[in-house]
Amino acid sequence: MLKDSFGRVHDYLRISLTDRCNYQCLYCLPEPEFKSGCHSSSHDSMSADEIESIAAVFVQQGVKKIRITGGEPLVRKDAGDIIDRLGKFDIKLAITTNGSRINAFIDAFQRSKLRSVNVSLDSLNPATFKQLTNKDDFKKVYSNIELLLSLNYHVKINMVVMNGYNDHEIGDFVAWTRNFPVHIRFIEFMSFPGNHWRPEKLFTYKEILNAIEARYPLVNKLEDHPNDTTKKYQVKGHQGTFAVISTMSEPFCSGCNRLRLTSDGKMRNCLFAKSEMDLLTPFRKGKDIVPLIQDCLAGKHFKLGGNADSNWGLAETVSDKRSMMGIGG
Ligand code: SAM
Repeated sequence: MLKDSFGRVHDYLRISLTDRCNYQCLYCLPEPEFKSGCHSSSHDSMSADEIESIAAVFVQQGVKKIRITGGEPLVRKDAGDIIDRLGKFDIKLAITTNGSRINAFIDAFQRSKLRSVNVSLDSLNPATFKQLTNKDDFKKVYSNIELLLSLNYHVKINMVVMNGYNDHEIGDFVAWTRNFPVHIRFIEFMSFPGNHWRPEKLFTYKEILNAIEARYPLVNKLEDHPNDTTKKYQVKGHQGTFAVISTMSEPFCSGCNRLRLTSDGKMRNCLFAKSEMDLLTPFRKGKDIVPLIQDCLAGKHFKLGGNADSNWGLAETVSDKRSMMGIGG
């Protein structure tokens, strides 16, 4: 069992398949000086064999859920093969994707145990979608979401709320939950090295709830699981739900059970960690990586990777230069 020094059991691993992405989202794309946080050579990246073998070590150590992420995981040509391989473990398998290539991988989804898909979609307006992602792909992503719903997947929609960009669409996303079983997750715009974060672009948990309650007075609070990053709600009578991920205004680190593996095989004990543990190099030399995994976890801070108590200045305090794309969101 993987426990940190605060007694928190860590049984959830997020594996980034690549740091490459076919979108250039405003809030994610690193400024040029932070590009070094992305490695992108295929030699540096874990192969499908290495992902399977390293994941197997984590599963032996007690990991019960693996989420595939990136960059954009589905730009990797062997993503279907990796889904097949991870699907053989006795775990829950999930994926976070921008949705643009789901149709190309739906057979792999269908033959695996993957039943839960998080799709990032920051606007229901094609022009705003293009402004935020630099791709004119709204229709493609939306039809892939429809495809998932038609096949009864559990579909969560990740919407990063940015003040002045898409906050006016919060109510429209909640309206979508009326007749469809979609689960919207409003994510506060997080601060990362080089991602253009400014306090005035933040639209907080409280502001999100106020915006929703102005349009929908009958909102029920749903029960949250101790490991949840979300605070869940449902409008009375709606099929779907909505939730808020309040990393910036109300961090939720006390129940953290998450570990991360970057596509170049570095373990991180927190999204905001200041350091990471190279597992791939020793793995390639045939070394036992279990002590390294345990060491990395032992160094986990209680909150926000040990960054300043005031979590408003993370971009200035995180010491390494990995962008969100380089870490794996
Ligand atoms: N490409 C995939 C996607 O678009 O979902 C997976 C990687 S992406 C980095 C994972 C999630 O992180 C997405 O939902 C994205 O919206 C979110 N994200 C990226 N940068 C963020 C930021 N600065 N603040 C909040 N969420 C962010």
